[in-house]
Amino acid sequence: MAIPTADGGATDNPLLQQWDTPYGLPPFGAVGPEHYEPAFAVAVDVHRREIEAIAADPAAPTFGNTIAVFDRTGRLLARLSHLFFNLTSSETSSALQAVEMRIAPLLAAHDSWIHMHRALFARIEQLHERRADLGLNAEQQRVLERYHTDFERAGARLPPAQQRRYADVMQRLAELTTRFGQNVLADEAGYRLVLRDESEWAGLPEFVRAAARQAGAERGIDGCVITLSRSHVVPFLTFSDRRDLREQVYRAWTSRGEHAGPTDNRPLAREILALRREQARLHGHASYADYSLAESMARRPANVTELLEQVWGPAVARAESEREALEALALSRDEPARIEAWDWRYYAEKVRKVRFDFDEAQVKPYFPLDRMTAAAFDCASRLFGLKFVEQPQVKAYHPDVRVYEVRGSDGGLVGVFLHDNFARPAKRSGAWMGSYRVQSRNGGDGAAVVVPIVVNNNNFAKAAHGEPTLLSFDDARTLFHEFGHGLHGLLSSVTYERVSGTNVLRDFVELPSQLFEHWLTEPEVLKRHARHYATHEPIPDALVERLHAARFFNQGYETVRYAASALVDMAAHTLASVEADFDVVAFERAQLERFGMPHGVGMNHRLPHFQHLFAGSGYAAGYYVYLWAEVLEADGYEAFAEAGDPFDPEVAARLRRFIYSSGDSLEPTEAYRAFRGRTPHIEPMLRQRGLLEVED
Ligand SMILES: [Zn+2]
Repeated sequence: MAIPTADGGATDNPLLQQWDTPYGLPPFGAVGPEHYEPAFAVAVDVHRREIEAIAADPAAPTFGNTIAVFDRTGRLLARLSHLFFNLTSSETSSALQAVEMRIAPLLAAHDSWIHMHRALFARIEQLHERRADLGLNAEQQRVLERYHTDFERAGARLPPAQQRRYADVMQRLAELTTRFGQNVLADEAGYRLVLRDESEWAGLPEFVRAAARQAGAERGIDGCVITLSRSHVVPFLTFSDRRDLREQVYRAWTSRGEHAGPTDNRPLAREILALRREQARLHGHASYADYSLAESMARRPANVTELLEQVWGPAVARAESEREALEALALSRDEPARIEAWDWRYYAEKVRKVRFDFDEAQVKPYFPLDRMTAAAFDCASRLFGLKFVEQPQVKAYHPDVRVYEVRGSDGGLVGVFLHDNFARPAKRSGAWMGSYRVQSRNGGDGAAVVVPIVVNNNNFAKAAHGEPTLLSFDDARTLFHEFGHGLHGLLSSVTYERVSGTNVLRDFVELPSQLFEHWLTEPEVLKRHARHYATHEPIPDALVERLHAARFFNQGYETVRYAASALVDMAAHTLASVEADFDVVAFERAQLERFGMPHGVGMNHRLPHFQHLFAGSGYAAGYYVYLWAEVLEADGYEAFAEAGDPFDPEVAARLRRFIYSSGDSLEPTEAYRAFRGRTPHIEPMLRQRGLLEVED
């Protein structure tokens, strides 16, 4: 069955057909880049007509005929957008990128059109005014609030002239953020370090060489290739004895987006900051951070800065003492004692080996990707009764993507899970969770259950054909992190799509993901799942103990790198003015100086490639959210410790009900309190980072 087009005819565009595929997955194999623009045009038109129908309804507004129906509109467009933007992140091409550049501003304009629709907003406004008398349940009240706020924050109340300017700003931002992300990808794809002989791969353990040989093979190069994928760069910086090559790779990695020419992100970042400032001013906010944080648990920039400052001082002190140990080691080897940013990981690994008596190469054989995936599934099973069953016959967009059916303890279908684990040139860096479909009980004409389709993306270096991919402990942590986000999408159990799954306040969204990392570190989970890829022997107790003993090691460095990026983010988004000659790099340097950035540490992300901030608005003035959520997560996990069992069924049931399933249907502070029985304390976070007292 085909969906009728605007002129009433049918279409053979696969994007507009009914998807008679397993689980309603997109018909990946049938779709080409040429199908998107005509399909988007139809989907936007369908959505407009749906909106007009609500606005023109002669009946007085009710929750049912306005909010519930609005929540069901745009499903065709959503289906298409999910597919398109998942692919432009995971499996893009120059053809898709060209479409993306044209589509992004059109979608922004469509979004403005909806939120500035006077008749529609008038109905929502009327309902909002009478919200106490409508007999709504708690979720419906929350959904009405959320939609009302969405409209206000997208410019519904602005006078017409300002609305026109606002819509222009949003369209231009959509173009700029799209280009920003594409530029980072281009700089990453454009770099390779080819290692041709023993002198150039000195120090690299076999697993780094194997990954580099595999990357070479994928690029048709006979030799070891180091790419700018994090899964290449970090091991290279950790192990390479060649200081000159470490410096070269480090500079290439940290200068992404900062090269004059077509991929230069500096002018884009400047313009984005200026436009965001204008956006905030149109709303009457002093800065973008004020505007953005008004809808967050943190509420105000001062609360964010206060939290960041609580970790900054102790983290800097700790990093300084960490550096002294690195310098001492370098001196003892007759090497330059001044630790530069490309030296830190290298010497830290050496110090760790001396102090805790293990290294990466010893740990990795116990962390094969398949076993760690099974470990994450097993934890989800023990906590929430979920069962993941691979469906090898179901094909996704790339042969490496694995598809799983997710079933609940009653055997019912809970969702579909796609696991896309490997780095590829056409995939953006980092790790993230996405959705192809969002859970609700508001499908079809109202009551139909919509089952979620969730994807986890990682960027692990793929092993050679026939060899198991071995993860570092950090990689395994990333796997668990994204899987936590995945569970947030899969376990969602709400009626309305607006409050479904991960569609929560941004400083709540990292709670389910970061919390889930804890189960990886549980000794009983490691004993059960961390098994040697060849011998199947469980990880030795002594190695688990050493891993545990080393948990605070280098945390000063890690915390400073993170907090510096978060502080620069807040500073950039609270600027009083952004002039035409504003230089983001000079600004960043001045801020780091102002905070007292220790030498040789570096930032997690520098402004010219800070995709959290500039490849979209999701984490703009929001890089702090990881730390915010960590306060909740560290405090929350102690509930299991207090119960004496990391899988305590009662705590797990509360966790599922109030955190993983409730989406944004509950006010987040209340949701946390309902789970934990009280508001969170900050000490567990400080303790977990080793910042409360010196423990090693
Ligand atoms: Zn996350």
